[in-house]
Amino acid sequence: MKKNILLITAMAISNIISAQIPEGYEVAQWKDFRQAAITYSFDDGTPNQIPAAVPTLEKYGYRGTFNLVTDWVKEWDGWKTISDNGHEIASHTVTHPYLDKLTAEQQTAELAKSKEIIEQNIGKECITMVYPYCVRGIDSIVADYYISARICCESFSSPSPQNMFAIASRLVGTESQYLKNTYDFNMWAKLAVKDNGWCVFLIHGIDNDGGYSPIKSVDLDSHLKFVQENDPTFWVGTFAEVSKYIIERNSLKISEKQQGEETEILVEATAESKVTKLDYPVTIKRRLPNGKGAIVTHNGKVIDSKLDDGCIIFDVVPGNTYLLVYDEGRMLLWTIFVVVGAILLILSAMRKRIGA
Ligand SMILES: [Zn+2]
Repeated sequence: MKKNILLITAMAISNIISAQIPEGYEVAQWKDFRQAAITYSFDDGTPNQIPAAVPTLEKYGYRGTFNLVTDWVKEWDGWKTISDNGHEIASHTVTHPYLDKLTAEQQTAELAKSKEIIEQNIGKECITMVYPYCVRGIDSIVADYYISARICCESFSSPSPQNMFAIASRLVGTESQYLKNTYDFNMWAKLAVKDNGWCVFLIHGIDNDGGYSPIKSVDLDSHLKFVQENDPTFWVGTFAEVSKYIIERNSLKISEKQQGEETEILVEATAESKVTKLDYPVTIKRRLPNGKGAIVTHNGKVIDSKLDDGCIIFDVVPGNTYLLVYDEGRMLLWTIFVVVGAILLILSAMRKRIGA
């Protein structure tokens, strides 16, 4: 029993890769087989984040992660509204302390209380956090309340970070040595592609709102334009979305069963989380039998899929079953439909001519 507990704790902390993927399948490193992941992570709840950064992100259809120090929040309405629009509200503790200077009990209080206050005010789960001054505390305490946490370290993360509680990020803005403007942000994003990495931009102030190391919203705007123009390359996700994706992808278990002409696909995540449900869609690809097309159904409904070079690509949510329906039957139906339609059209045209 004790061994099991130790194992689960170790797994939660070190993100062991334990995926079980049958032959013929491929699990996308990043959503939709994009080449790199990007997260825009905003700290301290500075005054211009809601009025300037949020509309800029939304203009391009992107969502950010906003890390709040709960004692510093004067009113919650704005944060609740942006959360309702899909942005993530995450914890940056209650008082912004150096966690390493606190006792284990004090650290627990900072992590548990901030989570509780955010969840009460936002009405959604709070499952990630960022360390004040980028100083880590005790990982196992963080793991009791969050699925991942962000440090600084001026780098990007590998697709499978060794420790989900020490995710790298890079400071941008006036205090950053390298990432000051659009050109720098774009370069950094392009570099992440080389390593298929996860690029977390660490942002504070916007347009001199008094926040640390400000960036200009126009710089953010033209950078996001570049990212959107390269949409097949970059996946922009919140810190929680990308974290979930990594945990699920690395513990995904796929099994299949032939059901007559159809293939039943069962998808599970073997990782366990006491913090959240691992239910974020993961993109997979399956090779199809020679010359066959297919559609995918889930609970009797056809879901989005894409045929690509003899394979089918679609999203799966762990804990669900999907049915691969090969398209010979469908092709036959379509052919009958088109032929009957054509005959009816010809007949009606002939009838009209005869009538005239
Ligand atoms: Zn801070």
